[in-house]
Amino acid sequence: MPSTQSPPLSDVLNVAETYVEPIVELTTRLSEVPAPTNDEALRAAAVREELEQLGYEDVTEDELHNVTGRIAGTDSSLCLLLAGHIDTVFPSDVNLTVTREGDVLHGPGVGDNTVSVASVAMVGRALRDLGIVPAVDIVVTGNVGEEGLGDLRGMRAVVDALPNLGGAIAVEGHSLGRITHRAVGSRRLRVTVIGPGGHSWGQAGLPSAIHHLARIVARLDAIPLTDDPKTSFNAGIFQGGISVNTIAPEAVAVLDMRSTSAKALAGLVSEVERVLAMPAPDGIDVDVDVVGDRPAGELPADRGLVPVATSVLRELGFDVAYDTSSTDANIPISRGIPAICIGLTTGGNVHRVDEYINISPLAKGFAQLLLTATRSADAIATGQL
Ligand SMILES: [Zn+2]
Repeated sequence: MPSTQSPPLSDVLNVAETYVEPIVELTTRLSEVPAPTNDEALRAAAVREELEQLGYEDVTEDELHNVTGRIAGTDSSLCLLLAGHIDTVFPSDVNLTVTREGDVLHGPGVGDNTVSVASVAMVGRALRDLGIVPAVDIVVTGNVGEEGLGDLRGMRAVVDALPNLGGAIAVEGHSLGRITHRAVGSRRLRVTVIGPGGHSWGQAGLPSAIHHLARIVARLDAIPLTDDPKTSFNAGIFQGGISVNTIAPEAVAVLDMRSTSAKALAGLVSEVERVLAMPAPDGIDVDVDVVGDRPAGELPADRGLVPVATSVLRELGFDVAYDTSSTDANIPISRGIPAICIGLTTGGNVHRVDEYINISPLAKGFAQLLLTATRSADAIATGQL
């Protein structure tokens, strides 16, 4: 009976407590291996070695450097995915030394997202300690490509490779007590305008790349946006020109469009594309490159994995908050697969070199992960999602 496979809360809390130090130790070791987005091979190798030592079956690394391992469940026809992204926003030359001061662990990327990678890696051994065989297979991954312009390409490939995926839990180190179930989708475009250039007086009247790009941005800014679903447009970068008395030969803008609704995002994107396709003056060329594409989506809060994760957090004494965000859960959510993103501990200074996490909340955070994973596996096995 799959539903009998979920362990009692007190047992899980006791076991989770014994994993705090191993998780901190592994977080420290992995954090010190550089893993900037799109250059994750070194850390992937370290994660692969850990998963092999921790006794996972079928440890694999794909060509993107996503590492996965499998915990065999009672029923292997379906699986649950636990994902912690291994990439960070820090370039390879940043000092990644991790230090511990009492209950606080300091270091770039410790919370976003190495503590998640370490915790997800420990799930297999902790379930064995508890004598639990999950109701369906649990696949754990340290995946690439979550930050910056990584475009969730790691999670996309991991989900593509799991046709029998019944649910997914992405894990982020900070924000314990929060459940993300709405996926903010985004589309990012780089618009490059090229013109003839020339002297601003001698060749006055020739078309300027800056003037043309400014007209484009003004038109884009006039596109009406909806509040519900929330939809946004931003021209975040605007560069161009070479001197005050030169007609600008080049100008570049990078645009960001977002929405929680796939339909609203598609509508906004087509409006933007319509403006960008408008005729330009003679001598002006407009080039558009897609530099980011993350799918939007929303699953009902009263179904799927949200009620499972909510009851676990409440039993552990948390007030639950629900989030809308862009995480690795975007990929399964956009495909209609039950998915959420949960946290593990508290901390601060995310995406800064002085990032830190608090160590003691990890006991409950890891207990939450174990309980949410086993109960989600039960729910997948019994078709309750
Ligand atoms: Zn993250």
